[in-house]
Amino acid sequence: MKNELHCAKLMRHGTESEGLSMKDLQEYIKCPKADTHNHLNLGMHYDSYLQWSGSPIPDFPRSMDGLDEMHEIISKYTRPRCRTAEDVVSLVDMSIQDAIEDGVTVLEGSIDIGFVIHFKKDTELFLKTVSGLVDKYAGKIDIRPELGLGKTFDKDKISRWAPELMDSGVFKSIDLYGPEIEDGIDEFKYLFEKAERLGLKKRAHVGEFSDAKSVRRFVEFFDLHEVQHGIGAAQDESVLKFLADRKVRCNVCPWSNVMLGAVTSLKEHPVKKMLDAGVSVSIGTDDLLFFGKTVSEQIYDLVRESVITPQDADRLLNAGLVS
Ligand SMILES: [Zn+2]
Repeated sequence: MKNELHCAKLMRHGTESEGLSMKDLQEYIKCPKADTHNHLNLGMHYDSYLQWSGSPIPDFPRSMDGLDEMHEIISKYTRPRCRTAEDVVSLVDMSIQDAIEDGVTVLEGSIDIGFVIHFKKDTELFLKTVSGLVDKYAGKIDIRPELGLGKTFDKDKISRWAPELMDSGVFKSIDLYGPEIEDGIDEFKYLFEKAERLGLKKRAHVGEFSDAKSVRRFVEFFDLHEVQHGIGAAQDESVLKFLADRKVRCNVCPWSNVMLGAVTSLKEHPVKKMLDAGVSVSIGTDDLLFFGKTVSEQIYDLVRESVITPQDADRLLNAGLVS
């Protein structure tokens, strides 16, 4: 609460002294905020990663030609460097520390179910470790672990592990990601129904590269509370209205969209269109390692490039903090 008041005061100060209400980057960093879209194994600055891994990724970070090129880099560099449970903990720990550094107070971070393998398939140890990280940073940052479900991951392992992991109470949400196609989504329906029964937040990645129709279809099919990305919805006013009426928040990652070529430039980003249509939008880093911009930096860049107004920026900050 103290910080929120401080934030409002800073904004008024900016208005009076400069005739503008744009905050500088440091002021955005000081504002309490959430990172609502963060894959915790890739959520750290490249500098932090490099110091830990000791193995550089050539010509990095750089723009990529879609998710295929990103997945090539993952298979060649980051995945081989993460072999043990200790590696997973180190990566997640770095992401948490870099989020704290950016003034993130609520971290809705995704941990992929596949990492259970690094814990020698010991789901109890996996859960204990995730809880341990939450406790380690209690008081500094509110970490709300999310169970990440890859569409292409072994379905037998998912059906064996996901129910127990969801029942544990450690995970506050689930997120389905992978190819943004409808083929095969029915195989995950039972987990979304379970999430509903348990009161877990239901999310899926859609509308990063896919169209407005697919966003609507995923929201309806899984009864999603939130969409990871969802920018494809901006192609169709009726889908924007659908999201606004249904109060489905989109956790948008502008620099991820630019770096992967989902939008041509930050200037062209549809976040303003989504906000103006009444859609609840918050900002996430997606993979800070790859895209290099924190939540504060992304909001600052959007205002600086006049994509959004300072008032929109405050809406983005507040939307993330509403659970
Ligand atoms: Zn993502």
